[in-house]
Amino acid sequence: TYTIEKVKSLIKTYPDFPQEGILFRDIFPIFQIPAAVDCLINYLAELALEEAKSAKCGKIDVVVGLDARGFLFGPSLAIKLGAKFVPIRKRGKLPGPTIKYEYQKEYGLDVLEIQSDAILPGENVLIVDDLLATGGTCGAAEKLVLNLGGRVILNQFVIELVGLGGRKSLSGKTMSVMEF
Ligand code: IMP
Repeated sequence: TYTIEKVKSLIKTYPDFPQEGILFRDIFPIFQIPAAVDCLINYLAELALEEAKSAKCGKIDVVVGLDARGFLFGPSLAIKLGAKFVPIRKRGKLPGPTIKYEYQKEYGLDVLEIQSDAILPGENVLIVDDLLATGGTCGAAEKLVLNLGGRVILNQFVIELVGLGGRKSLSGKTMSVMEF
């Protein structure tokens, strides 16, 4: 069987991508090995169940995945938790009534959106993404969840770039599978 240490060794690092000076961490090699994906999703689900238990919140009702690589983990994780899956997307991708949140990126503003009826007031929400860097993206996602009346139980990441201190800008409990 696969271990989390072995999953970590699959992450590939690309210097100067997509811009000079950026050390890009690539999670896609994990998806070439079904046993590695299985190991990782089970690990995320176990941590989420433990957190729901210690927060005494009952169950996780909603897994929110962040555009775009959060969509690789969210639906599988949601199935394991018996939760619904909801996407948060970049501006202009979601049909019907949405709410928006504008946030500061390194260069200029960005906008995230969620469908207005996707989360009901009082629902317990887990947010998942591939990677936590500055925390700007997940911080905006937290705001959208809270604005719909959801409770952020946990922010989960496969990778955390610890040097950037992103978790400081998040209001919910935050955990990552591996640190770089
Ligand atoms: P933040 O908003 O600065 O925390 O950046 C996190 C977002 O940027 C996530 O949605 C990531 O998918 C993406 N991201 C930033 N750096 C990397 C990287 O090295 N590899 C993959 N995704 C990254």
